[in-house]
Amino acid sequence: MPVITVNDGEAVFECRDGDNLLRAGLRAGVGLPYECGVGACGCCRGEVVEGQVDDLWPEAPGLSARDRRKGRVLTCQSRPQDDVRLHLQLDAHAVPVIRPLRRTVRLAAVRDVTHDIREFVFQADAPADFLPGQYAFLALPGVPRERAYSMANLPNEAGEWHFRIRRVAGGEATGTLFDHLAPGATAQLDGPYGLAHLRPDSPRDIVCIAGGSGLAPMLSVARGAAAHPALAGRRLDFFYGGRTPADVCGEAELASLPGYGAQVRYHAAVSDPAAAEAARWPGAVGPVHELVERTLGERLDAAEFYLAGPPPMVEALQQLLQVTHRIAPERIHFDRFF
Ligand SMILES: Cc1cc2nc3c(=O)[nH]c(=O)nc-3n(C[C@H](O)[C@H](O)[C@H](O)COP(=O)(O)OP(=O)(O)OC[C@H]3O[C@@H](n4cnc5c(N)ncnc54)[C@H](O)[C@@H]3O)c2cc1C
Repeated sequence: MPVITVNDGEAVFECRDGDNLLRAGLRAGVGLPYECGVGACGCCRGEVVEGQVDDLWPEAPGLSARDRRKGRVLTCQSRPQDDVRLHLQLDAHAVPVIRPLRRTVRLAAVRDVTHDIREFVFQADAPADFLPGQYAFLALPGVPRERAYSMANLPNEAGEWHFRIRRVAGGEATGTLFDHLAPGATAQLDGPYGLAHLRPDSPRDIVCIAGGSGLAPMLSVARGAAAHPALAGRRLDFFYGGRTPADVCGEAELASLPGYGAQVRYHAAVSDPAAAEAARWPGAVGPVHELVERTLGERLDAAEFYLAGPPPMVEALQQLLQVTHRIAPERIHFDRFF
C-alpha cells in the first residue's frame, strides 16, 4: 500500500483502495487543504517531490498551465503509483471532525422540489454521520466519475442521506439520477467532506445564502442551528437567489423551523427582470447579494455567513462581505458548486 509523506514527515499516511491523495489523507485525519474535491477550485494544490502519481483529470480547471509547468498537482485528482513525498501547507482547520468513509447506499425515495430540483433520499445500513453543511461524493451506476452533493438533512441514526439535486442539461450524473435511477438502486457514497459547516460556538447571528442548487447545505445549516441548544432563539436570515420565480424554493422548509417569522426569516430574489415581470413576482429583483446588503444593513457586520451556490454568486458575496464590509474571512464559510 503506498505510503504518503507530507513535508518530510510532518504527516505520514497510507493510501488504500485506489484512493486519491486528498481523501486518503483526510481519512487518516490529516489536515490537507481543499474545498471542492472535484478538481475545479485549486485549493488542494501541492508538489510531488518524490514518487509518481496518476493524474485522474489532466485538464482539471484547478491547475493553471504555470502550475503544470512547475510540476504541481491537485491532491484530489492524484492517485499514487507507489510511495510519494508531497510538499504543501497543511491546514489545521481542514482536519476532519468526522473522518470520511465509503459505504453502499440504496435509493429510498425521490420527490420533485421545483421544476428542475429533486430530493433524492439514500439509505445506508449505518448512522448518517456528518456536520450540517457538509457534502458527500456519490458514485452512480454507469457514471465513470463521482460527483459531489451536499446533504440537506441533519445527521441521523436511521442512516438517511437527503440530497437536493438540480438537473443539468446534458449532465452525466444528473441524467442518470433523474432518468435512470429508480428506488431500490444502489450507489456508493463517500463522506462527509467540506469545511463550510455550522459553527455552533460562534456567538453571532446566522446568515445563510443559497443560489440554485446551493439550497441543500443551507437548509442543513438552518436545520442544524434550529436544533442546537446553544443556538436556540438566535437570529437566522435565510436568503435564496433564483433566476426566475419558478426557481425560488426553501421557504416551506424554513417555515417548519421554530421561531419562523420572528427570529427566523426567509428572503428571496429573482435575477431575471423579464421573468419576474412576466410572472408578476412581488419580491426582490436582482442579484441575491444586493438583497442581502439591503435587508441586513448594519447587521451585516455582526453575523456569521454560510454561502453555497455557483462560483459567480459566491465571488460577488465575497466582494461584498470581505472587500466592502471588511468582514474577516474566518466568519464566511462557503462551498462553490462547480
Ligand atoms: C462541493 C460541491 C457540492 C455540490 N452540491 C450539490 C448539490 O447539493 N446539489 C446539486 O444539484 N449540485 C451540487 N453540486 C454540483 C454537482 O457535483 C455536479 O457538478 C452537477 O450535478 C452536474 O453534474 P453532471 O454529471 O450532471 O454534469 P456534467 O456536466 O456531466 O459534469 C459536471 C461536473 O463533473 C466533473 N467532471 C466533468 N468531467 C470530469 C472529468 N473528466 N474528471 C473529473 N471530473 C469531471 C466536474 O466537477 C464538472 O463540474 C456540488 C458541487 C460541489 C463541488
